[in-house]
Amino acid sequence: MPELPEVETIRRDLAEQVIGLTISAIQVLDDRVIRNCSARQFCRQCLGKTITTVTRRGKAIVIQFSPPGYAIIQPMMTGHLVYDPVGEKVTDRDTKIVFTLSNQSRLNYNDQRLFGRIQYVDDLKKIEFFRHIGPEPLEKEFTVDWLKLNLEKRSGPIKSLLMNQHFIAGIGNIYASEILFRSRISPRRSARRLKREEIALLHRATVDILKEAVSLRGTSMRNYRDLSSTKGNFMNRIKVYGREQEKCLQCKTPITKIVQAGRSTFYCKRCQR
Ligand SMILES: [Zn+2]
Repeated sequence: MPELPEVETIRRDLAEQVIGLTISAIQVLDDRVIRNCSARQFCRQCLGKTITTVTRRGKAIVIQFSPPGYAIIQPMMTGHLVYDPVGEKVTDRDTKIVFTLSNQSRLNYNDQRLFGRIQYVDDLKKIEFFRHIGPEPLEKEFTVDWLKLNLEKRSGPIKSLLMNQHFIAGIGNIYASEILFRSRISPRRSARRLKREEIALLHRATVDILKEAVSLRGTSMRNYRDLSSTKGNFMNRIKVYGREQEKCLQCKTPITKIVQAGRSTFYCKRCQR
């Protein structure tokens, strides 16, 4: 699933290509990806509108229009945006929506298994998910003090909490494992029992890893690709995720895989305490 670095990569590329362009046609090939209105309503709301900004909140992309309105794209497990600057690429069987823009370029939304979702709203407060989402880890609001104060209120293991979008936005399974490895904290540790110095390490690792991953255009584990269908480069920096039984790159102990809240966690029993 694309996490913060992958969605941010898509957002930046998209902003470079589409800001200032107007949506001149929309072809809905499968209306099941549109979640909060009919395909006809969705097209009527978006058509003729100009894209003014492309922002991100957690793992969602927010396209803002003029006249005012927003299209929110949540790629989830399988959603994928493909930008075609010359408007010639043929759609494939996974293409669900084709947006034709005023310079004849096209933006396709592909989604093989229909896990992703697209919504149109006139007010972002109408998106339920945005009302309860936690702070952005790369914004100023995410500080060591905030983290300490809020970890104290939470029970349960730190790994599951890092992935909880109500607690903090944008982190999923890959980066939660990598952040904990760099912090040298076991994923099984209780969130509220972390010590002040561990929280400072956790904060540092969260910011550093997410920034590095954004600068390397994300991680391509299974199906993530950027707007031009290219893989991300953070793969080469992965230390624990998906490396079960392989040697820890620091101490050579085999990496352990456990399941927490139904998700796989990878860690080094020796390096992470
Ligand atoms: Zn180790």
